[in-house]
Amino acid sequence: MRKYEEKKENQVVEVYCNCCGKKLAVKDGMIMEGVLPVTAFWGYFSEKDGEHHTFDLCESCYDKWIAGFQIPVEKKIENEML
Ligand SMILES: [Zn+2]
Repeated sequence: MRKYEEKKENQVVEVYCNCCGKKLAVKDGMIMEGVLPVTAFWGYFSEKDGEHHTFDLCESCYDKWIAGFQIPVEKKIENEML
């Protein structure tokens, strides 16, 4: 869950993990720790017809979530990080 600077739409000021409620570290509009931003659009064949869902997960909640997966996540190392 993100709160933005009123004057600048893209300037994030606060980010919270939707799962545990932890406030993530943000400095000058940049998130200074691991976060998984999720945006899901539920289409016609779902039971959430047309709903748009967004949430953020901290790294710790992400790790707990994927630990329960039957099939592990695919991992690839990026050599170039911006
Ligand atoms: Zn969390």
